[in-house]
Parts: sequence; C-alpha cells; structure tokens
Amino acid sequence: MNILLLQAFGNPDAASYEKFIEKIWLLWPSCTLEQLAELTPSRHSVTIINNLNDSRLKKMDFSDYELAGISYFTATAYRAYNMADMLRKCGVKVVLGGYHASALPEEAKRHADAVVVGEAEMLWPELLEDAEKGRLKPFYIQSKPIASRQIPCAAGINRSLSPVGGIEATRGCINHCEFCSISHSPMGSRLRLKPMEKVIGAIENLPHDYFIFMDSSLNLNPAYSKKLFREMKGLDKKFACFFNANIAEDEELVKLASDAGCIACAIGFESISRSNIDHLSKKTNDVSKYGDVVKKLHEYGIAVMSSLVFGLDGDMPDVFDTTLEKLSEWDVDSAGANILTPLPGTSLFSRLEREKRIFTIDWSKYDLYHVVFRPRNMTPEELYRGTKLFIKRFYRASGIAGRLISSLRLGWYPFLSMLEHNVTSRLIYNSVFKPA
Ligand code: SF4
Repeated sequence: MNILLLQAFGNPDAASYEKFIEKIWLLWPSCTLEQLAELTPSRHSVTIINNLNDSRLKKMDFSDYELAGISYFTATAYRAYNMADMLRKCGVKVVLGGYHASALPEEAKRHADAVVVGEAEMLWPELLEDAEKGRLKPFYIQSKPIASRQIPCAAGINRSLSPVGGIEATRGCINHCEFCSISHSPMGSRLRLKPMEKVIGAIENLPHDYFIFMDSSLNLNPAYSKKLFREMKGLDKKFACFFNANIAEDEELVKLASDAGCIACAIGFESISRSNIDHLSKKTNDVSKYGDVVKKLHEYGIAVMSSLVFGLDGDMPDVFDTTLEKLSEWDVDSAGANILTPLPGTSLFSRLEREKRIFTIDWSKYDLYHVVFRPRNMTPEELYRGTKLFIKRFYRASGIAGRLISSLRLGWYPFLSMLEHNVTSRLIYNSVFKPA
C-alpha cells in the first residue's frame, strides 16, 4: 500500500506571516510519525508530512494512496477532520489517532474509517493487515501503556533538512498534574525506558549535531538518565531536554547532563504560588527553591527555559506582575506562558465541566492562547490581556538583550540557543496573542 502519514499541524488558512511562524514551531521535532514508519513492513511505501502547509501536499494526487494516518491534538482537531474528509472523498481510507482522538474517539470516528485509541505501535501491524484486506475495524484500542521494548526509537530520518533532531528515550510520566494530557491518556500514564543501546544508536545515527530529547522529563528516573548521559559522553552532540523542577537536588545528574552536551533545559515551573502547585498535584515543584534550581543549572552551563501557566484557581489579577518580578529575580533565560486549558481527557476538564466553568468547546481555541473557561479570581478578559501583557513585557527588546548578555557567561552554545529561543518566542507570541 501507499501510505500517507500526516501531522495536522499548520493552518492552511493562515496568512503568510503566520505560516512562516508555523515553520519556526516545526523546528521542534516530533518523533510520532517516524516511529510508526519504522514499524511499517517494507512492502508498503510511506510518505511523512508534518505540516498541512507542506508544498508537497498541493502537488499530490491523493488517489495514489490507499491509507492515510493523521495524528492530531485538540487545537488541530478541525484541521485533521477537514483533511480526513477530503482524503476520504478521494477514496483514501483514513485512520485518526493521537491525544484528542484517544480522549474523544466517537467524535474522531465521524471523520475516519478507523480510530486508534492509545498508543499505536502495537496496533499498527494488525491495522495495516486489516487495511490491506479491506476490513478495517472502527476502533483499535490500546488501553494500557505498551512495554518499552515495543516502542521504536526513530533516528530523525525525516528531518535531515531541519537543523534540529529529535529523540525520545523515555515515554510517559509518573506524575499526575491536573491539566496534563500526557499523564491522563493511556499513552502516558506510566514511565517506560527504552533500551539504552537503541537510544544511543539513534543518537549516533542522527544527522544533526544538535537535538532535543522529547521526553516528558529526563529526571523522572535518575539512574536511567545518569547511565544515558555517561554513554553519551564523547558523542560530540549538543542537546536540550525537559527536566522537572527538582533536578537541582541531584547535582551528579546535572553534571552528567552537562558533560553529555546539555546546553538548555525546559522546566515546568507552572506557578509562583505554592497553593497553586499543591492544587495541581505537581509534587516535583517547590516554589521556594526555583531560584536555586536556575542557579545550579547555570553553574553547569545549562540555560533554563521556564514554562508557566496563568489562570489557575489561586491566580489573582496581580499574578502577571509578581511572576515577572520573580522570573527576573531567578534569572531565567526564557519563559513560555500558557493560558490554563482544560484539554479533553484530563482531570482539569472533568472538574471545570462539573463546575460548569467551560464556556466553549470550540477546539480550535484550545491552543493555550485563548481562554475557554471562567477563571476563579479574574474575568476571562483579564486572564487573556494579563497573559498577553506579561509576554509583551518579558519579550521586550531590552529584556531579551539583558538575558542574552547574562547567558553569554554560560558559554557559546547556550547563548546561541537562547538567542534563537528568545527571538522566536517573541515572534511566535506576537503572532498568537491577537486582540480578544
Ligand atoms: S510532570 Fe509534566 S509530563 Fe508529568 S504529569 Fe506533570 S505536566 Fe505532565
């Protein structure tokens, strides 16, 4: 069969400037489709397209394909459905999967011949056989997380033209934060560690000198990560990864990460309020230690990209100003700010729905940059404007310049990485935060 694997990223109706911004987003790699391609028997041919604005799509004759698999998340659900409807009109059988499809499979089925619920890897061979025989089942369900040895470790084969590679060494998370779709889905509720030799082999095969570990966090299992970092020493790669906020408690791990080539990490600080963190059940975060965490990572030449959420139940209208002050005090190198979003399938969605605080289920607004629920201590407009102003102030030119000068002391690579991250964040946030 000719198989088309698509990620429903990119808005075909966007203005050219926004399409340019989407290309920047796509520098963040995704391993999902490559890993499915790796599990596809060689008698089939696979085309991977990670962006609905990819020019190859315009030139394609879809009737050349027998099967299409589309992966999507909540904010891109309508784009996935439009694409699926169009492909089905051309006679292509369509399979939908991903976090949103797993949370709302019946909704997905209205636009697909089959829906994959949960992780696709174990189901994929059976699904391909059924497609070949013309008898796809409506649902393929993987209700429990699959074993680590069953997850392939793609080596960036589809990204040789991109400057950034992507690797997934572990999958899932042991935490259970209220808003997180990873830990609430059948795909992510358990941490799986891929065999070390597979991961090292994939890193060695990467055509890139710089890559990103796409794992939820590389300090969930310190023993595994220490072994990984020890084995990476000498590979001469630079990388960024995600850590939880308790990373600095294990200085040996920080040192090994740095020796292995870690130049930047993203940390979900989420909030500067202890009660907000307790409410989220994020046990790895101790707000009183955030400054020490940044300091420890800086000592080892690792830049810190902090990630924050606004609109939590304890947030008052002054949260934006106080957070800005704290970020400056802690000396973070960049910040991501998201509006709290109750993604389907999460405990947050169930709770806010129970409390009748969700006022729209227009999925296109579930992109972390729109307000879709009534916050407890401010109006939706205050939350939107406050987040927008926070971003504007954090990414003003003088703020970027100050952080970059400061990041120079971390070394040339962290500086370049933060130059890219600050400049692209400013462009991206200016593009996504439009007038309410
Ligand atoms: S630590 Fe991160 S990945 Fe794990 S549940 Fe919390 S937000 Fe999700």
